[in-house]
Amino acid sequence: MNSNTARVCGDWRVSANCRHDEPDSLFVRGRHQRDARAVCQGCPVLIECLSHALGNRIEFGVWGGLTERERRALLKRRPDVTDWSAFLGANPMIDPAADPARATRRAA
Ligand code: SF4
Repeated sequence: MNSNTARVCGDWRVSANCRHDEPDSLFVRGRHQRDARAVCQGCPVLIECLSHALGNRIEFGVWGGLTERERRALLKRRPDVTDWSAFLGANPMIDPAADPARATRRAA
C-alpha cells in the first residue's frame, strides 16, 4: 500500500482530481485525449487509476494520465506484468500526466 492508497481509505475515486468533471470529458477521441489528461496532473490516486485501467484492460478513455494509445503501448511492452498495482508501486514513475512519454519509457 502506498501513501496515496492509505490516504484515500476505500474507494480511490472519491479523491480523484476528475471527480467533479463530466465523465465524458475523459472519453474523448484521438488527439483530444492529450488535452483531456491535463486533469490527471498531480492526481493523488493516479497510480490506483492507472493500475485499475491496465489490470482490467480498459481500452477507452484517459486513465491514470495515459491515453488509450499509451496504455496499449505499455501493455504491449510489458506482457509479463500481472499485478500493475504492485509493479507501479515498486517502480515509481514521474507523473505520467506531466510527461507520459517518459513515464511509459521508464516502465518498459
Ligand atoms: S488519474 Fe486522471 S482519470 Fe484517473 S482518477 Fe485521477 S484525474 Fe481521474
